[in-house]
Amino acid sequence: MIRIRGRALPHGEHVDLCADGDRWTTGPVPNADLVAEGWLLPGLVDAHTHPGAEAPGDRLDHGVLRDHLRQHVDAGVTVIRAPGLADEPPPWFGVDPETPRAWHAGPWLAQHGQFFDGWGRRADHAELPSIAAAQAARTGWAKVIGDWRSNGEPVPLDVMTAVVEAVHAVGGRVAVHTQQAAGGEVAVLAGADSVEHGMSMDPGLLARMAEQGTALTPTLSVMRQSLPEVRSRPDSPAKRWYVRGARAHPHLVAAAAEAGVRVLAGTDSVPHGRILDEVRALAGAGMRPHDALAAASWDARAYLGLPGLEPGAPADAVVYAEDPRTDLDQLAHPIAVILRGRPVRVRRTG
Ligand SMILES: [Zn+2]
Repeated sequence: MIRIRGRALPHGEHVDLCADGDRWTTGPVPNADLVAEGWLLPGLVDAHTHPGAEAPGDRLDHGVLRDHLRQHVDAGVTVIRAPGLADEPPPWFGVDPETPRAWHAGPWLAQHGQFFDGWGRRADHAELPSIAAAQAARTGWAKVIGDWRSNGEPVPLDVMTAVVEAVHAVGGRVAVHTQQAAGGEVAVLAGADSVEHGMSMDPGLLARMAEQGTALTPTLSVMRQSLPEVRSRPDSPAKRWYVRGARAHPHLVAAAAEAGVRVLAGTDSVPHGRILDEVRALAGAGMRPHDALAAASWDARAYLGLPGLEPGAPADAVVYAEDPRTDLDQLAHPIAVILRGRPVRVRRTG
């Protein structure tokens, strides 16, 4: 048995926990090995990552998948959500002791003529709801490309509404990729469970998102990182669309948090394991550090149905020397990462 103790976020109360297999119990328990002491989070969450392929169009490679997942664990990530994978994952995905718990939506679902060549599944509007529902019945999620780049027509509202209804009917949830104002409106009006990217979205939709519980995964850091390269391109409508949307995105994120929209931290990026960049970006956009951490930890876990650091909860944790809310750089140096009750990373100090 292993033991951790310290101050647990979000509330900062003192806790003393032991892991009995994959469940936290109240410590101390005789002979339990004190693995780490400090500031405790119930593990980090990357809510938007596509492990297992290096570049768009690549097939899912199980060795690459394992490498990417290990990079997430190095960063303190104990849970991922993969809204789109290059293929159905192998049976060990999400349950292997060395890799994070995982939620996934199988391959992306897109309209004909949209999305990356070689990735995802294209479908007619008429069959999109049943295909999405079948995927969600298997894995809990379906991912739909709601619009594509600057000029790919959004999925029509009646089709997206039918998709959401069909997925909800089987108890699943729908994540929608959107980077156009019109596509963002479709996703929200259709009642999607999460808007991925949400670039160029009308802030006037945020109140409705908060009210109906639609989350926003802004993937802010990757969008900001790509901005200098896009800016260096020759002028075009596509460039103007991207620069305008990416520049406005931090303001949208801040307004979303202010409106009470649930924000989820997602990196969408290679290299993997850069959740710290997204937490920094969310805080840089104006979210309180407490809320930026929530988006990458306890609140994201709650969104996926996992409780925090409490007796009976799945035994994940990441431990820091200092309060990460007052020093986000702590995220780069976890003392320990506990996954399923096992210390998978421990930094020996002193
Ligand atoms: Zn993505």
